[in-house]
Amino acid sequence: MRIIGFKSAVFTAVVAFAFAASASIEFKSGGAVLRLADANGAVESLVAADGAERLVVATEAFTLQLLDEKGEPTRLKSSDFAFSRDGGLFTWRHTDGLVVHMEVSAADDVFYFKPSVEGIPAGMLLEWFDGPQVCISPERKLFWPDWDGTEVTNYNSRPYRPIGYRKRFTPGFGSSLYPGLAQMQFMAAYKDGRGVYFSAVDDRHTPKAVDWDQQDGKSIRLTLQTFCGDLDADGAWRPKFHYSIRPYEGEWMEACEIYRDWVRTLPDFQRKPTRPKWMYDSPVNLIYPVRGAGNDCGRDMKPNRFFPYVNAMPAVEKYGRLLDSRIMALLVHWEGTAPWAPPYVWPPFGGEEALAKFRDALHARGDLLGVYCSGTAWTQVSAIVPDYSLEQRFEDEHLGRYMMRGPKGEITACICNGFDSQKLGYDMCLAEDWCAGEIVAEAAKLSRFGIDYSQFFDQNMGGGWLLCYAKHHKHPPIPGAWAVEAMRTLQKRLIAAGNGMVFGCEQTAATPYVPNLPYSDVRPMPGLMFFGRPVPGSAFVFHEWMCNFTGNQCGMIKRMDAFWRWMSGFHNGDMFSLVLNDSGEVICGWPAPWSWGPLPERDDLMAVLKELNAIRKKHPSFLLEGRMIRPFLKCESRPAIVKFEGWVSGTVETTEVLTSFWENEKGEHIGFASNWRREPSELKITHADGRVETRTLAPLEVIELKK
Ligand SMILES: [Zn+2]
Repeated sequence: MRIIGFKSAVFTAVVAFAFAASASIEFKSGGAVLRLADANGAVESLVAADGAERLVVATEAFTLQLLDEKGEPTRLKSSDFAFSRDGGLFTWRHTDGLVVHMEVSAADDVFYFKPSVEGIPAGMLLEWFDGPQVCISPERKLFWPDWDGTEVTNYNSRPYRPIGYRKRFTPGFGSSLYPGLAQMQFMAAYKDGRGVYFSAVDDRHTPKAVDWDQQDGKSIRLTLQTFCGDLDADGAWRPKFHYSIRPYEGEWMEACEIYRDWVRTLPDFQRKPTRPKWMYDSPVNLIYPVRGAGNDCGRDMKPNRFFPYVNAMPAVEKYGRLLDSRIMALLVHWEGTAPWAPPYVWPPFGGEEALAKFRDALHARGDLLGVYCSGTAWTQVSAIVPDYSLEQRFEDEHLGRYMMRGPKGEITACICNGFDSQKLGYDMCLAEDWCAGEIVAEAAKLSRFGIDYSQFFDQNMGGGWLLCYAKHHKHPPIPGAWAVEAMRTLQKRLIAAGNGMVFGCEQTAATPYVPNLPYSDVRPMPGLMFFGRPVPGSAFVFHEWMCNFTGNQCGMIKRMDAFWRWMSGFHNGDMFSLVLNDSGEVICGWPAPWSWGPLPERDDLMAVLKELNAIRKKHPSFLLEGRMIRPFLKCESRPAIVKFEGWVSGTVETTEVLTSFWENEKGEHIGFASNWRREPSELKITHADGRVETRTLAPLEVIELKK
């Protein structure tokens, strides 16, 4: 068995276990003790060497779901089975012949769980397995690797439900599919610097939920509900990977370090990324539509002031001058088919010649051309341009056979799909050759034309895709690692045919897609609005392989402190982006009706972004290629509150001074501190030798920090 991320020699050693006085089974490793219930194998307790409990009692060891031939689910929990144990091998037997095994072992303070499910009843398929089940106290904060990194404190923000084939996309529910909306396959819960880390050590990145269930409010169950499509010939599920639980000291950064250490062992992360030269110039994106008035749906999509495309050149020149920067014009509603009508986008609205004039004018100045696309969905009818319809072709060519299906053969799509949305259509199955071929051919038209960057996988959150159960497709009828491999293969084909065009996705790329999608539109807003606060988890783990941009805010923000937002982006290591309205002024984001007006204080914001981008260009070994690290200086400033208005309104707790710390390939270190307020702010710095220094940062000042 291939074991990654820990000492395999130790792992194979005999596990120490014993009965505890309280009818628990104890596993000891290092100074840590894991206790499982002798009655049913559920995880009861994890006490670290520091003597502090990390968990609360779970009532079940696992749940699983079977599908019958009609796609009807049967959900079973461990208490539906008879439990027995032989040393570190736990077994649950069901009366219908179903047998679940869990090998439990330990090494170096880490506890490992390796499940298998055998004896699947005839006519049934194992859809997913959710175990071991791990519960924490709601007093703990949770690092949740969704939406680029979220620290969850509001556990009542949504009810839990297992993931599956979905008919509607509901961001508030934060569908937590990995690799996708969830970008990493671990969670960490901490309080007072004492944490517990729960992960799947799965180098094939099998689709799974990375999620939390608030249960009765007294305990939060962490779930890595895993899809079981990678079956053995006898129908059994015997994954090659395991789950792990470990105590650790620290909060979200220390947990991300554990995950990053594992990521560094993966083959795709052994190589240094190949970056286009323009990334070293840290171009600023100007995001705007060429049709409509700032809304992303509705039928009022007349060409606006940015069409013909060259009409945008005065804005490009203005912001290039104000920011002392190369510009990337990043277009929305440019597709000649209809806005938001994937997979077909070409030719551009108004024809190739019109866009070629703009491309050439940009390139003549050293600027860049980028486009938003809409991912791998299939459009039957545009809800924006009703003349655009592929219904006849779909019927004539029997294209329904290539679309994703649910367990009952149902066909739909869940993102931006509906009469009041952008389109009516389906999702393409990326394991079907016909779909992959159409997508590669369409993307090649963009790259051949000389487009520099395509946010091609917008609406493919994290660069992933959803769950296909089609029995008539060539893949297994249950989602599995095959689906991730299909997407990775597609992305590599796109890059091979891409003529140097860079590809990106919506949110930062999920773990297996990071090497293919190095520049994406970050989406920290849902973390802020629903669950707690955003933290730059993706940047902390992956920045040395990818460098994203501050995005378009996904239409979620109406009002917010712009300096806090963009300075946060700087500390995340992101490049910058701005959204323009029909006056060429900077607005809060896209989509947002232009009637909301421009950002107040936008002139001061330009001055700040010019300075921040100059720092980015001065320090590419840190801010483009470097690794985010934990603070090497203790930096403290007063707590502060930022208000926001958007899909929901509220506040976020922050500090008066923001900081970030970086390491480059030579092992050198640098830090930055910035005051986002319009008043002076004090920063107390405690050096490693105990020396304390207090610095006063002027309004909007940014400083470098050295060891
Ligand atoms: Zn399929």
